[in-house]
Amino acid sequence: MLQKFHLRTRSRSQMINITEQVREAIRQSGAVDGFVTVYCPHTTAGITINEGADSDVVRDILLHLDELFPWEHPQYRHGEGNSAAHLKASTIGASQAIPVVNSEAVLGIWQAIFFCEFDGPRHRTFLVKVIQG
Ligand code: ZN
Repeated sequence: MLQKFHLRTRSRSQMINITEQVREAIRQSGAVDGFVTVYCPHTTAGITINEGADSDVVRDILLHLDELFPWEHPQYRHGEGNSAAHLKASTIGASQAIPVVNSEAVLGIWQAIFFCEFDGPRHRTFLVKVIQG
């Protein structure tokens, strides 16, 4: 079963903790052992795993991505004007795969799963697939 989630982002760059939705998707699937994949079907957003306890970590990640990929660059060619968002999305990646043991995602105590917006605010979706096995 492929589960689809909707979310509304609030700013151009934002990391939204989606760990609870992923845990719920695992419960709904009934899977005990296997993998859960979390996938972002957008070209200017991504999925990552990082610290969920101290929100300054998210702030620092977004700050440094802005330094690496400035919104304006004299040599960007992409006509839509959001090249920085595409660059950030490919750097972060479109998906994550997490082991599932005893019906729970195996995450470290400080780890959380984030939907990463880089060209918001927008309506977005992400997909969760639990693979038993
Ligand atoms: Zn674009």
